[in-house]
Amino acid sequence: MRLYPEHVTNETLDTAGLLPAEAIDALERAATSAHRHDGLFSERAANIRQSAVRDVFDVSMRPGLVSLAGGSPYLQSLPLERLAETAAAIIANEGLIALQYGGGQGMEELRKQICEVMAAEGILDAVPQNVVITAGSQSAQDVATKVFCNPGDVVLVENPTYVGALNTFEAYQVKVETVEMDDDGLVPELLGARIAALQTAGKNIKFLYTIPSFNNPSGITLAKERRQRIVEICRNANILVLEDNPYGLLRFDGAPLAPLRADHPGDVIYLGSFSKIFAPGLRIGWALVPEHLQRRYYLASESVTLCPPTLNQMLVSAYLRDYDWKGQIAIYRGLYAERCQAMLDALDEHMPDGISWTTPEGGFFVWVTLPQGVDTYPLLQKAIDAGVVFIPGAAFTPSDEPSNKLRLAFSAVPPEAITEGVRRLAPVLREAIAG
Ligand code: PMP
Repeated sequence: MRLYPEHVTNETLDTAGLLPAEAIDALERAATSAHRHDGLFSERAANIRQSAVRDVFDVSMRPGLVSLAGGSPYLQSLPLERLAETAAAIIANEGLIALQYGGGQGMEELRKQICEVMAAEGILDAVPQNVVITAGSQSAQDVATKVFCNPGDVVLVENPTYVGALNTFEAYQVKVETVEMDDDGLVPELLGARIAALQTAGKNIKFLYTIPSFNNPSGITLAKERRQRIVEICRNANILVLEDNPYGLLRFDGAPLAPLRADHPGDVIYLGSFSKIFAPGLRIGWALVPEHLQRRYYLASESVTLCPPTLNQMLVSAYLRDYDWKGQIAIYRGLYAERCQAMLDALDEHMPDGISWTTPEGGFFVWVTLPQGVDTYPLLQKAIDAGVVFIPGAAFTPSDEPSNKLRLAFSAVPPEAITEGVRRLAPVLREAIAG
C-alpha cells in the first residue's frame, strides 16, 4: 500500500485528477478478478504499488475536515489575473510556437533563466547546455532511474524519503536501501558503512537519492559541515548523487546553504522544480546534468515526453522575465514561516509528553515521532473521525514497515486551521500512547 500524500488537500481531494472512492472500488474489483490479459503485464507493473488514499478520500467530502496531509503550495498568493493575461498574450502573439512541439531539451531562453534561479541557490557555474527541462522533477527522477538502473541495482535513500521517488525506484525494480538521518540529516559514517557493506556483498549501487534541504517528509536539513563529506563518500565509491532540491529557496529560518551540486559539478545530478516556488500544475522542472552524462540522459528524457510542454515553458519564462519572482518566493516564505510557527506552537500546546517533532527551517513539513512500538497507520482512521488528516510514516519507507512517525504539512492550510487540526489530533495520539 502506498499513500500519495502530495495530492491530498481539502480543496483538491476531489479535483486533483485522483479517483473518487467508487472508481477505486471498481478498479479494485477489476484488479482482483482474473482476466486473460493478466499474463501480459510486465514485471515492472507488478511493482507499481496501489494507492491507499481512499481512506482519505472517503472523508474528503466531510465538511470541516482539516487536512494536514497534502504538501501543496498555497497558490492563492499568486497574481492569478495577471498570469491569465500573460498566458492569453502568449497564445495570441506567439501561438504558433506555444502550441507547437519544441526541442527535447526545452527552450534555451528558459534554460538560461533556470541557471539564474540556480544561481540564487548558490550554483554559480550552470550553463543552459547542462540543463534539461522535464515534466516536473518527478519526471527527472524517472529519467535518472531509467538511465542508470537495471532491475536489482541498488539506490540509496535517506530514511525517511519522498514517497514519489520510492514509487519511481520500485517501478524500475530497483532495490532501495535506506540510510538513517539524525537532526543534522544523513549521517556520513552510516552512509560510508552502508556503501562498504553493500559493495562488499557485490551489490551494484548506482546513486544516492537525497533531499538535503527541508527533506520531505521530515523537514530535516543536511548540516553544512556534512555536505562535502557526503559527496566525497559517494565519489570515492563511484556512486552518483541525485540531489532533489524543490524546497531549497523556501528557507524561512537560519543561514542559506549551498546545494551539494555547488562545489561538485561532476558528481551530482541536480533536480530543480517550479512546483514549490511558482506552480506545480505547470509541471515544469529540470535536471542539471554533468557533461559526461548528458547524452544518454537527454535522449532518455526525450523518449519519454518528446519535448517538455511548450506553452507552459513560455509562461514560466515570461513569469521569470516580467514578474518579481524573487518577491513571490519571499511571499511564500513569509506565509510558510507563519504556518510553520502556528503548527509548532500548537504542537507545543497540545501534544502529550512522549511525542517529539522536528523544527524545520524551511519547506512544508513537520515530522512527528511517537514512542517506539506505536504504529501510526491505524491512527489515521481515528484522526479522520476526529476531523483531521495526516500521512502515516510508513508511506515514506521502501517497505511500508510499521512506523511510529507521521507527517504534518503546514503549506496548504491557514494558521487557524493548522491550530485546530493539531488540537484535534492530540487526543488521538494521547490515547494511542496510553493504549
Ligand atoms: N521531490 C520532492 C522531494 C517532492 O516533495 C516533490 C513533490 N512534492 C517532488 C520531487 C515532485 O515535484 P514536481 O512537482 O516538480 O514533480
